[in-house]
Amino acid sequence: MNLILLGAPGAGKGTQAEIISDRLQIPTISTGNIIREALKSGTEMGLKAKAFMEAGQLVPDEVVIGIIKERLAKDDCQKGFILDGFPRTIPQAEALDKMGIVIDKVIDIEVKDEAIVKRMSGRRVCEKCGASYHMEYKKPAVDGVCDRCAGTLVQRKDDHPDTVNARLEVYHKETEPLKDYYAKQEKLSVVEGQATIEDTTALILKAVEA
Ligand code: ADP
Ligand code: ZN
Repeated sequence: MNLILLGAPGAGKGTQAEIISDRLQIPTISTGNIIREALKSGTEMGLKAKAFMEAGQLVPDEVVIGIIKERLAKDDCQKGFILDGFPRTIPQAEALDKMGIVIDKVIDIEVKDEAIVKRMSGRRVCEKCGASYHMEYKKPAVDGVCDRCAGTLVQRKDDHPDTVNARLEVYHKETEPLKDYYAKQEKLSVVEGQATIEDTTALILKAVEA
């Protein structure tokens, strides 16, 4: 099963991707996490991406397309995968099609902008493994510590309120047209983000199995 999770930044793509990944036993590929890793280890790609990311802008298509090509070629993707945060523009979606990658389903998680802004302020990520948490909705067992790897939880620079608004603007302009793109391919399922993570997961699994 080759899946794409679509939705605004902060709609819960990352959290849902982790859960569905466990259920279906297929890897999640998060371009955001790959870029943050590259940034941390100071690779050339990381340096190129840094300014864009911190300003809430998209990293250039050719950079992320290169990342995805390399990642999807690995063995663990052969029985399926979940894409979290890719594609984010029409040219990125076209690049997937050109690579001959067949997408089975695209799940769009809908959350209103007002709710996104509120959610983002409580969001924390593990500095070490990238797992995501929320101070209200998805608390770690111990405050400030990752359940998975005991790494420190931090707020991403691009989760600060000003940057969140910039990211939402980019989302509506560049990413939202993908709904139409995949609706035309008859692959789109729209899921309303629910008040709890579990309820949203249930809707997504239903859409995946449909
Ligand atoms: P979120 O989904 O919460 O916005 P991500 O971790 O997916 O966060 O992405 C964070 C940032 O990484 C984006 O704002 C952008 O700068 C960069 N990025 C991630 N994926 C892509 C992509 N497919 N195309 C362009 N930039 C990307
Ligand atoms: Zn961790």
